[in-house]
Amino acid sequence: IKNIAVLTSGGDAPGMNAAIRAVVRTGIYHGINMFGVMQGYQGLITNNIKPMDARSVSNILHLGGTILKTARCLEFKTDEGQEIAYRNLKANNIDGLVVIGGDGTFTGAKRFGEKYGVKVIGIPGTIDNDLSGSDFTLGYDTAINTVIEAIDKIRDTADAHDRLFFIEVMGRDSGCIALRSSIASGAEAVLLPEVETSVNELIEKLALGAATKKSSSIVIVAEGHKQGGAYDIAKKVKETFDHYDTKVTILGHLQRGGSPSSFDRILGSRLGFAAVNALIAGESAQMVGLRGNDIKLTSIEEALSNHSFKLEDDLMEMTDVLSI
Ligand code: ADP
Repeated sequence: IKNIAVLTSGGDAPGMNAAIRAVVRTGIYHGINMFGVMQGYQGLITNNIKPMDARSVSNILHLGGTILKTARCLEFKTDEGQEIAYRNLKANNIDGLVVIGGDGTFTGAKRFGEKYGVKVIGIPGTIDNDLSGSDFTLGYDTAINTVIEAIDKIRDTADAHDRLFFIEVMGRDSGCIALRSSIASGAEAVLLPEVETSVNELIEKLALGAATKKSSSIVIVAEGHKQGGAYDIAKKVKETFDHYDTKVTILGHLQRGGSPSSFDRILGSRLGFAAVNALIAGESAQMVGLRGNDIKLTSIEEALSNHSFKLEDDLMEMTDVLSI
Protein backbone atom coordinates (compact mmCIF):
# COMPACT_ATOMS: atom_id res chain seq x y z
CA ILE A 1 0.00 0.00 0.00
CA LYS A 2 1.49 3.35 -1.03
CA ASN A 3 -1.08 6.09 -0.59
CA ILE A 4 -3.62 6.32 2.23
CA ALA A 5 -6.31 8.97 2.75
CA VAL A 6 -8.14 9.74 6.00
CA LEU A 7 -11.47 11.52 6.49
CA THR A 8 -13.90 12.37 9.28
CA SER A 9 -17.60 12.19 8.52
CA GLY A 10 -21.02 12.60 10.13
CA GLY A 11 -21.25 13.94 13.68
CA ASP A 12 -17.95 15.15 15.12
CA ALA A 13 -16.60 13.71 18.35
CA PRO A 14 -13.74 14.71 20.67
CA GLY A 15 -10.70 12.54 19.96
CA MET A 16 -11.08 12.59 16.18
CA ASN A 17 -7.97 14.79 15.93
CA ALA A 18 -5.99 12.33 18.04
CA ALA A 19 -7.01 9.60 15.59
CA ILE A 20 -6.13 11.71 12.51
CA ARG A 21 -2.70 12.45 13.99
CA ALA A 22 -2.06 8.77 14.70
CA VAL A 23 -3.20 7.71 11.22
CA VAL A 24 -1.00 10.28 9.47
CA ARG A 25 2.10 9.65 11.56
CA THR A 26 1.81 5.84 11.50
CA GLY A 27 1.52 5.95 7.71
CA ILE A 28 4.48 8.30 7.32
CA TYR A 29 6.55 6.19 9.72
CA HIS A 30 6.03 3.27 7.33
CA GLY A 31 6.93 5.35 4.25
CA ILE A 32 3.35 5.70 3.01
CA ASN A 33 2.14 8.93 1.37
CA MET A 34 -0.68 10.32 3.47
CA PHE A 35 -3.64 12.46 2.40
CA GLY A 36 -6.42 14.25 4.27
CA VAL A 37 -9.88 14.49 2.73
CA MET A 38 -11.73 17.66 3.77
CA GLN A 39 -15.38 17.59 4.88
CA GLY A 40 -15.90 13.85 4.87
CA TYR A 41 -17.32 12.25 1.73
CA GLN A 42 -18.02 15.73 0.37
CA GLY A 43 -14.28 16.24 -0.12
CA LEU A 44 -13.99 12.99 -2.08
CA ILE A 45 -16.62 14.32 -4.47
CA THR A 46 -15.15 17.83 -4.78
CA ASN A 47 -11.59 16.44 -4.86
CA ASN A 48 -10.67 18.42 -1.76
CA ILE A 49 -7.84 16.04 -0.92
CA LYS A 50 -4.52 17.35 0.36
CA PRO A 51 -1.19 15.72 1.12
CA MET A 52 -0.32 15.57 4.81
CA ASP A 53 3.04 15.32 6.51
CA ALA A 54 4.02 14.71 10.12
CA ARG A 55 3.86 18.47 10.82
CA SER A 56 0.32 18.86 9.41
CA VAL A 57 -0.91 17.14 12.53
CA SER A 58 1.23 18.99 15.07
CA ASN A 59 -0.52 20.36 18.16
CA ILE A 60 -3.94 18.89 17.46
CA LEU A 61 -3.99 16.01 19.93
CA HIS A 62 -5.78 18.09 22.57
CA LEU A 63 -8.29 19.79 20.29
CA GLY A 64 -11.99 18.94 20.01
CA GLY A 65 -13.70 18.96 16.60
CA THR A 66 -11.75 17.79 13.57
CA ILE A 67 -9.09 19.62 11.56
CA LEU A 68 -10.34 17.83 8.44
CA LYS A 69 -13.88 19.16 9.07
CA THR A 70 -16.87 16.93 8.69
CA ALA A 71 -20.11 17.05 6.75
CA ARG A 72 -23.28 15.22 5.99
CA CYS A 73 -23.04 14.55 2.27
CA LEU A 74 -26.24 13.50 0.52
CA GLU A 75 -24.54 13.15 -2.87
CA PHE A 76 -22.39 10.28 -1.59
CA LYS A 77 -25.60 8.32 -1.05
CA THR A 78 -26.22 8.31 -4.82
CA ASP A 79 -24.51 6.04 -7.37
CA GLU A 80 -23.34 9.11 -9.31
CA GLY A 81 -21.78 10.64 -6.20
CA GLN A 82 -19.93 7.42 -5.36
CA GLU A 83 -18.67 7.18 -8.95
CA ILE A 84 -17.21 10.72 -8.82
CA ALA A 85 -15.66 9.96 -5.43
CA TYR A 86 -14.04 6.83 -6.81
CA ARG A 87 -12.64 8.65 -9.84
CA ASN A 88 -11.06 11.26 -7.57
CA LEU A 89 -9.53 8.57 -5.38
CA LYS A 90 -8.06 6.92 -8.47
CA ALA A 91 -6.78 10.24 -9.82
CA ASN A 92 -4.85 10.70 -6.56
CA ASN A 93 -3.63 7.06 -6.66
CA ILE A 94 -5.13 6.44 -3.25
CA ASP A 95 -5.22 2.73 -2.46
CA GLY A 96 -6.42 2.78 1.14
CA LEU A 97 -9.00 4.81 3.03
CA VAL A 98 -9.50 5.36 6.76
CA VAL A 99 -12.95 6.70 7.68
CA ILE A 100 -13.64 8.10 11.14
CA GLY A 101 -17.34 8.40 11.97
CA GLY A 102 -20.52 6.72 13.08
CA ASP A 103 -23.00 4.27 11.60
CA GLY A 104 -23.92 6.48 8.61
CA THR A 105 -20.25 6.87 7.74
CA PHE A 106 -19.72 3.11 8.00
CA THR A 107 -22.80 2.36 5.87
CA GLY A 108 -21.38 4.62 3.15
CA ALA A 109 -17.91 3.10 3.48
CA LYS A 110 -19.20 -0.45 3.23
CA ARG A 111 -21.13 0.28 0.05
CA PHE A 112 -18.21 2.21 -1.49
CA GLY A 113 -15.69 -0.48 -0.60
CA GLU A 114 -17.81 -3.32 -1.95
CA LYS A 115 -18.69 -1.54 -5.16
CA TYR A 116 -15.20 -0.39 -6.17
CA GLY A 117 -12.92 -2.73 -4.25
CA VAL A 118 -11.50 0.19 -2.25
CA LYS A 119 -9.69 -0.93 0.89
CA VAL A 120 -11.41 0.76 3.82
CA ILE A 121 -10.85 0.65 7.57
CA GLY A 122 -13.31 2.34 9.94
CA ILE A 123 -12.59 4.08 13.24
CA PRO A 124 -15.67 4.36 15.48
CA GLY A 125 -15.93 8.09 16.17
CA THR A 126 -19.22 9.03 17.81
CA ILE A 127 -20.23 10.21 21.26
CA ASP A 128 -23.30 7.94 21.10
CA ASN A 129 -21.39 4.66 21.64
CA ASP A 130 -23.84 2.94 19.30
CA LEU A 131 -21.59 0.59 17.33
CA SER A 132 -20.89 -3.08 18.00
CA GLY A 133 -17.31 -4.28 18.27
CA SER A 134 -15.99 -1.43 20.40
CA ASP A 135 -16.87 -1.20 24.09
CA PHE A 136 -16.20 2.54 23.86
CA THR A 137 -16.42 4.69 20.74
CA LEU A 138 -14.21 7.73 20.33
CA GLY A 139 -15.67 10.81 22.03
CA TYR A 140 -18.04 8.93 24.31
CA ASP A 141 -15.88 9.30 27.42
CA THR A 142 -15.29 13.03 26.86
CA ALA A 143 -19.01 13.59 26.31
CA ILE A 144 -19.80 11.90 29.64
CA ASN A 145 -17.20 14.08 31.37
CA THR A 146 -18.76 17.18 29.83
CA VAL A 147 -22.22 16.07 30.96
CA ILE A 148 -21.19 15.43 34.55
CA GLU A 149 -19.36 18.75 34.76
CA ALA A 150 -22.59 20.47 33.72
CA ILE A 151 -24.73 18.39 36.09
CA ASP A 152 -22.42 19.17 39.03
CA LYS A 153 -23.14 22.85 38.43
CA ILE A 154 -26.87 22.25 38.09
CA ARG A 155 -26.79 20.24 41.33
CA ASP A 156 -25.46 23.29 43.20
CA THR A 157 -28.39 25.44 42.17
CA ALA A 158 -30.89 22.57 42.50
CA ASP A 159 -29.77 22.01 46.07
CA ALA A 160 -29.84 25.68 46.99
CA HIS A 161 -33.47 26.02 45.88
CA ASP A 162 -34.96 22.54 46.56
CA ARG A 163 -35.48 22.01 42.87
CA LEU A 164 -36.24 19.07 40.64
CA PHE A 165 -34.22 19.16 37.42
CA PHE A 166 -34.85 17.20 34.24
CA ILE A 167 -31.67 17.14 32.17
CA GLU A 168 -31.74 15.90 28.60
CA VAL A 169 -28.56 14.35 27.22
CA MET A 170 -27.55 13.19 23.74
CA GLY A 171 -27.03 9.67 22.41
CA ARG A 172 -29.72 9.31 19.74
CA ASP A 173 -31.27 5.84 20.26
CA SER A 174 -28.57 4.85 22.71
CA GLY A 175 -28.86 5.39 26.47
CA CYS A 176 -25.12 4.94 27.06
CA ILE A 177 -24.31 8.60 27.83
CA ALA A 178 -27.41 8.88 30.01
CA LEU A 179 -26.66 5.75 32.05
CA ARG A 180 -22.99 6.49 32.71
CA SER A 181 -23.59 10.14 33.49
CA SER A 182 -26.38 9.22 35.89
CA ILE A 183 -24.00 7.00 37.87
CA ALA A 184 -21.16 9.52 37.76
CA SER A 185 -23.33 12.47 38.81
CA GLY A 186 -25.46 10.65 41.38
CA ALA A 187 -28.71 11.37 39.57
CA GLU A 188 -31.93 10.29 41.32
CA ALA A 189 -33.31 8.65 38.17
CA VAL A 190 -32.46 8.02 34.54
CA LEU A 191 -34.82 7.45 31.61
CA LEU A 192 -33.31 5.34 28.84
CA PRO A 193 -34.52 4.51 25.33
CA GLU A 194 -33.75 0.84 25.98
CA VAL A 195 -35.94 0.54 29.08
CA GLU A 196 -39.60 1.28 29.61
CA THR A 197 -40.14 3.43 32.68
CA SER A 198 -43.63 4.72 33.41
CA VAL A 199 -44.15 8.25 34.66
CA ASN A 200 -45.87 6.74 37.72
CA GLU A 201 -42.79 4.70 38.61
CA LEU A 202 -40.68 7.81 38.28
CA ILE A 203 -43.04 9.81 40.50
CA GLU A 204 -42.98 7.07 43.15
CA LYS A 205 -39.23 7.23 43.22
CA LEU A 206 -39.12 11.02 43.46
CA ALA A 207 -41.79 10.99 46.16
CA LEU A 208 -39.75 8.54 48.19
CA GLY A 209 -36.73 10.82 47.89
CA ALA A 210 -38.81 13.79 49.01
CA ALA A 211 -40.20 11.79 51.97
CA THR A 212 -36.67 10.87 53.04
CA LYS A 213 -35.60 14.51 52.90
CA LYS A 214 -33.75 14.78 49.61
CA SER A 215 -33.30 18.48 49.08
CA SER A 216 -32.98 18.24 45.32
CA SER A 217 -33.49 15.71 42.60
CA ILE A 218 -31.95 15.22 39.20
CA VAL A 219 -33.53 13.11 36.50
CA ILE A 220 -31.50 12.40 33.38
CA VAL A 221 -33.53 11.90 30.22
CA ALA A 222 -31.87 10.33 27.17
CA GLU A 223 -32.88 12.23 24.03
CA GLY A 224 -34.12 8.98 22.47
CA HIS A 225 -36.47 8.15 25.36
CA LYS A 226 -39.71 6.77 23.95
CA GLN A 227 -42.10 8.91 26.01
CA GLY A 228 -40.65 12.20 24.89
CA GLY A 229 -37.89 14.60 25.81
CA ALA A 230 -37.13 16.28 29.12
CA TYR A 231 -39.85 18.95 28.66
CA ASP A 232 -42.56 16.33 28.03
CA ILE A 233 -41.54 14.20 30.99
CA ALA A 234 -41.25 17.23 33.30
CA LYS A 235 -44.75 18.34 32.34
CA LYS A 236 -46.26 14.90 32.96
CA VAL A 237 -44.54 14.59 36.34
CA LYS A 238 -45.58 18.05 37.46
CA GLU A 239 -49.24 17.25 36.81
CA THR A 240 -49.31 14.87 39.80
CA PHE A 241 -46.11 15.56 41.75
CA ASP A 242 -45.55 19.16 42.69
CA HIS A 243 -43.25 18.84 45.66
CA TYR A 244 -40.30 20.69 44.10
CA ASP A 245 -39.87 23.68 41.85
CA THR A 246 -39.32 21.95 38.48
CA LYS A 247 -36.75 23.01 35.86
CA VAL A 248 -35.57 21.59 32.55
CA THR A 249 -32.11 21.80 30.94
CA ILE A 250 -31.28 20.49 27.48
CA LEU A 251 -27.50 20.16 27.34
CA GLY A 252 -27.40 20.03 23.52
CA HIS A 253 -24.31 20.46 21.39
CA LEU A 254 -21.93 21.40 24.17
CA GLN A 255 -21.73 17.61 24.60
CA ARG A 256 -19.97 17.34 21.25
CA GLY A 257 -17.14 19.74 21.94
CA GLY A 258 -14.23 20.26 24.25
CA SER A 259 -10.74 18.94 24.67
CA PRO A 260 -10.73 15.12 24.61
CA SER A 261 -10.20 13.29 27.90
CA SER A 262 -6.99 11.31 28.38
CA PHE A 263 -9.06 8.21 27.65
CA ASP A 264 -10.18 9.54 24.25
CA ARG A 265 -6.71 10.85 23.34
CA ILE A 266 -5.26 7.41 24.02
CA LEU A 267 -8.14 5.58 22.36
CA GLY A 268 -7.90 7.82 19.27
CA SER A 269 -4.16 7.22 19.09
CA ARG A 270 -4.56 3.45 19.45
CA LEU A 271 -7.33 3.25 16.88
CA GLY A 272 -5.50 5.43 14.34
CA PHE A 273 -2.31 3.40 14.77
CA ALA A 274 -4.24 0.12 14.43
CA ALA A 275 -6.20 1.31 11.37
CA VAL A 276 -3.06 1.98 9.33
CA ASN A 277 -1.43 -1.24 10.51
CA ALA A 278 -4.57 -3.11 9.41
CA LEU A 279 -4.36 -1.58 5.92
CA ILE A 280 -0.67 -2.49 5.73
CA ALA A 281 -1.59 -6.05 6.73
CA GLY A 282 -4.02 -6.17 3.79
CA GLU A 283 -7.24 -5.89 5.81
CA SER A 284 -10.34 -4.21 4.43
CA ALA A 285 -14.00 -3.58 5.33
CA GLN A 286 -13.04 -3.83 9.02
CA MET A 287 -13.51 -1.54 11.97
CA VAL A 288 -10.83 -1.17 14.64
CA GLY A 289 -12.34 -1.14 18.11
CA LEU A 290 -11.60 -1.48 21.80
CA ARG A 291 -12.64 -4.77 23.40
CA GLY A 292 -11.59 -5.22 26.99
CA ASN A 293 -8.25 -3.45 26.86
CA ASP A 294 -7.31 -4.77 23.43
CA ILE A 295 -7.70 -3.28 19.98
CA LYS A 296 -9.53 -5.77 17.77
CA LEU A 297 -10.93 -5.88 14.25
CA THR A 298 -14.64 -6.34 13.63
CA SER A 299 -16.17 -6.42 10.15
CA ILE A 300 -17.94 -3.17 9.35
CA GLU A 301 -21.02 -5.22 8.63
CA GLU A 302 -21.01 -6.63 12.16
CA ALA A 303 -20.21 -3.22 13.68
CA LEU A 304 -23.38 -1.89 12.08
CA SER A 305 -25.60 -4.67 13.40
CA ASN A 306 -26.72 -5.56 16.85
CA HIS A 307 -25.70 -2.49 18.82
CA SER A 308 -29.09 -2.18 20.42
CA PHE A 309 -28.08 -3.02 23.95
CA LYS A 310 -24.68 -1.89 25.21
CA LEU A 311 -25.72 -0.87 28.71
CA GLU A 312 -23.74 -2.54 31.51
CA ASP A 313 -25.93 -4.79 33.70
CA ASP A 314 -24.38 -3.73 36.99
CA LEU A 315 -24.78 -0.04 36.16
CA MET A 316 -28.44 -0.67 35.35
CA GLU A 317 -28.95 -2.39 38.69
CA MET A 318 -27.09 0.34 40.56
CA THR A 319 -29.29 3.18 39.31
CA ASP A 320 -32.01 2.15 41.77
CA VAL A 321 -29.72 1.12 44.60
CA LEU A 322 -27.35 4.06 44.82
CA SER A 323 -29.97 6.75 44.46
CA ILE A 324 -32.04 5.92 47.57
P1 ADP B 1 -22.69 9.35 11.33
O1 ADP B 1 -21.53 8.77 10.60
O2 ADP B 1 -22.25 10.21 12.49
O3 ADP B 1 -23.74 8.32 11.68
P2 ADP B 1 -24.43 10.32 9.16
O4 ADP B 1 -25.54 9.37 9.42
O5 ADP B 1 -24.77 11.72 8.83
O6 ADP B 1 -23.39 10.43 10.36
O7 ADP B 1 -23.57 9.74 7.95
C1 ADP B 1 -22.43 10.42 7.48
C2 ADP B 1 -22.37 10.37 5.98
O8 ADP B 1 -22.23 9.02 5.53
C3 ADP B 1 -23.62 10.86 5.26
O9 ADP B 1 -23.67 12.26 5.21
C4 ADP B 1 -23.41 10.24 3.88
O10 ADP B 1 -22.50 10.99 3.12
C5 ADP B 1 -22.77 8.89 4.24
N1 ADP B 1 -23.81 7.85 4.20
C6 ADP B 1 -24.74 7.56 5.14
N2 ADP B 1 -25.56 6.56 4.75
C7 ADP B 1 -25.14 6.20 3.51
C8 ADP B 1 -25.57 5.24 2.53
N3 ADP B 1 -26.63 4.43 2.77
N4 ADP B 1 -24.89 5.17 1.37
C9 ADP B 1 -23.83 5.98 1.13
N5 ADP B 1 -23.40 6.91 1.98
C10 ADP B 1 -24.01 7.03 3.17
